[in-house]
Amino acid sequence: MIQTVRGVHDLLPGETTLWQFLESEALSIFRRYGFEEIRTPLFEKTELFARAVGATTDIVEKEMYTFADRGGDSLSLRPEGTASVVRAFVQQSMHRHLPWKVWYRGPMFRYERPQKGRQRQFHQIGCELFGPEGPLADAELMAMAMHYLTGIGLKDALVLEINSLGCLACRAPYRDRLIAALRTSAAQLCDDCQNRLERNPLRVLDCKRESCRATITRAPVMLDHLCPGCHTHFAILKDHLTGLGISHQVNPLMVRGLDYYNRTAFEITAVGLGAQNAVAAGGRYDGLVEQMGGTATPAIGFAMGLERLALLLDGENRHTLPMEVYLVTLGNAAEQAGLKLADTLRKAGLSVELNLGGGSLKSQMKRAGRSQARFAMLIGDTELANNVVVVKDMLQSQQQEIPIPETVNHMITLCRTSP
Ligand SMILES: [Zn+2]
Ligand SMILES: [Zn+2]
Repeated sequence: MIQTVRGVHDLLPGETTLWQFLESEALSIFRRYGFEEIRTPLFEKTELFARAVGATTDIVEKEMYTFADRGGDSLSLRPEGTASVVRAFVQQSMHRHLPWKVWYRGPMFRYERPQKGRQRQFHQIGCELFGPEGPLADAELMAMAMHYLTGIGLKDALVLEINSLGCLACRAPYRDRLIAALRTSAAQLCDDCQNRLERNPLRVLDCKRESCRATITRAPVMLDHLCPGCHTHFAILKDHLTGLGISHQVNPLMVRGLDYYNRTAFEITAVGLGAQNAVAAGGRYDGLVEQMGGTATPAIGFAMGLERLALLLDGENRHTLPMEVYLVTLGNAAEQAGLKLADTLRKAGLSVELNLGGGSLKSQMKRAGRSQARFAMLIGDTELANNVVVVKDMLQSQQQEIPIPETVNHMITLCRTSP
């Protein structure tokens, strides 16, 4: 028996109803903010991710599914969504159509150690907003993310954390200051952090190891070293959030794994997932479009992991809507008539489960019961001879005969009026 690859899962019909709900809420809520869906390819040239995400990041160095296609080109399954959206923005010259507001959904791929809520094929919904530079866009995007997460039912458990990562002008001097401070206690840092110290010192602030915490709490933070422009941007953002009634916490230690972020960084966490509780994360990446060869355009975005959202909402059962009609047929002629009748009813908008595979009246009625259909319709030789069908109300155990030509109108009325 061939099974799924490690870290990759089927979503079975019982689960997909929840996923469809998560996606349809995104469609409905993001539209109200003027965001339209974009669908980019699942694989791209490896170079795209190396340039956008960063050639020295864990994602690109260790986690990508990279392969040579039959023509010898190095391709990779997308490990995240932003790189492709930025590529599309540049490729389609969307800087002529600002602001450009898009959202995406779909699978991403990373070779990571699988655990609860983390898969090698995982799924994200993300939004990207190109054009506006000011904090108004940041506030609106966060409001939209909170609106979505509240809308799917996470209301009481959400915490919005924000930070500023500075800009090119103020981050370089801060970085030097940080490296100098960390060097004085480098011996106390874990191996990972000693590595990060020179390459990506900001990531040290993110280390969760107890041994590193003492050093980190003494280290200078970006927020205390912002240039006037970044300082104002952050101050106005906080005002906007307060004005919207969105409670938020400043977390000066929140950094981003990817180098392209600047200024605003944010994370929304939900209580209930333990240490791994971020359900949405995002930030500004004003330099990325230009870095990818496009006309310099500020941008901000965020992404959410569907596996985690599904875990958090797991307790709330969302059942598939039951069928409206189960069609029981007895005998070959009735089966043939039933096939036609089911077709007619479905084209009129009703959901109809046609009995497949024969069976006695008793066994077919049993299946009708299991299907949870509101009504059973029954055709046998007698009914065919009289050009009628028997309609049985499965809840009230009443039945009546309806002339076949009147079935469509009759069933539509019945389904609309019955509880
Ligand atoms: Zn700055
Ligand atoms: Zn560490």
